[in-house]
Amino acid sequence: MRTETKAVHAGEREENRQHRSVVTPIDQTAAYYFEDTPQVKDFYEGKLAGIKYGRYGCPTQHAVERKLADMENTERALLFSSGMSAVTTAIMALARAGQHVLYTNDCYRNIRRFFDEILPNFGIETTEVPIDDMKNIEKYLKENTVLFFSELPTNPFLRVIDLEHVITTTTKRGIVSLIDSTFATPVNIRPAEYGVDLVLHSATKYLGGHHDLFAGVVAGRSKFIEKVQQYRDIFGGIVDPHTSYLLLRSMQTLPLRMKAHNNNGLEIANWLEKHPKVARVWYPGCKSHPDNDLAEKQMSGFGGVITFSLKASEEETSRFVDALRIPYIATNFGGPQSLIEQHAILTFYKDRVRAEKRGITGNLLRYSVGLENVADVLEDFENAFRVLG
Ligand code: PLP
Repeated sequence: MRTETKAVHAGEREENRQHRSVVTPIDQTAAYYFEDTPQVKDFYEGKLAGIKYGRYGCPTQHAVERKLADMENTERALLFSSGMSAVTTAIMALARAGQHVLYTNDCYRNIRRFFDEILPNFGIETTEVPIDDMKNIEKYLKENTVLFFSELPTNPFLRVIDLEHVITTTTKRGIVSLIDSTFATPVNIRPAEYGVDLVLHSATKYLGGHHDLFAGVVAGRSKFIEKVQQYRDIFGGIVDPHTSYLLLRSMQTLPLRMKAHNNNGLEIANWLEKHPKVARVWYPGCKSHPDNDLAEKQMSGFGGVITFSLKASEEETSRFVDALRIPYIATNFGGPQSLIEQHAILTFYKDRVRAEKRGITGNLLRYSVGLENVADVLEDFENAFRVLG
């Protein structure tokens, strides 16, 4: 089946439902019972399928997990309570004290902090690979390197790494590869088809798609998923049945929504690029983006997040943001409502030194294109540009 059909049916159609409902029910329960002691024993001996306790999963959650695994073309998928819970649980499950992990330097602030500040406390050595030096990734590997992590595209400059090159390098050394595909979704790229071991998502973004839920995903080969699942059972970062249902429902429209985000994103990025008040646009679908060739080769769409800088000071940039009427000033992406973020202020207000080091200047903006009519969004931009004179 193709992605659109899997989005609607995978994990749901084949289930035998008690009341033959078309829609997957919400099993709002934390506890599950056994009829008698022989059933308990059968359960432990693998003769009786089922769930013992809600922290290990629930039927609604399992339906989403099956759908995600099918859409990513992986053996299995696990849901988590947030994207951060998915990333941290997966990495804690796969790296030990005395081992070394690599990560690319353009990434979500709290993911970087996890590598930079948290993992070393557990005796795990970490190295940041500059995204511009990915072709020399071998140079950063050590004898004890066990894991490579990157977002694709990355945050906030939407860089795209060469998966074929990464996978050739990591597999010959037995290094586990993890790709955070939050910005792309399985509609735009399926990293497992390139041999990536584990694909991660903040489902809070496009998969949830409505700015109304928190969830995370780890999808991949069973041998790794089993290990990650043991850690999730202990760390406890699970989703509740109702959130699972919201996600299940959202996933059915993911291909349709992504088509709109991709189209709107490309049109708006191309428009911004031509605007005289715009200094630079970072959007993988634009010819000017440093990774446009790789993006065109690996991805079927480029999403709805556009990073751009203005020919303006920080204060003027804030005035431009405040003059916009369509987007909310908020830090998420992937929902119907467009959002705008002056990164240096909204995310890095208390961490300006680090922001500058990362190229996050006061005139840099991240626009998450929603599902509004593009003509309205462009008119809104045009009006706001007037404040710049
Ligand atoms: N991965 C990426 C690429 C993100 O942008 C984010 C959050 O912004 C996360 C993971 C963390 O996800 P969550 O906010 O759902 O914990």
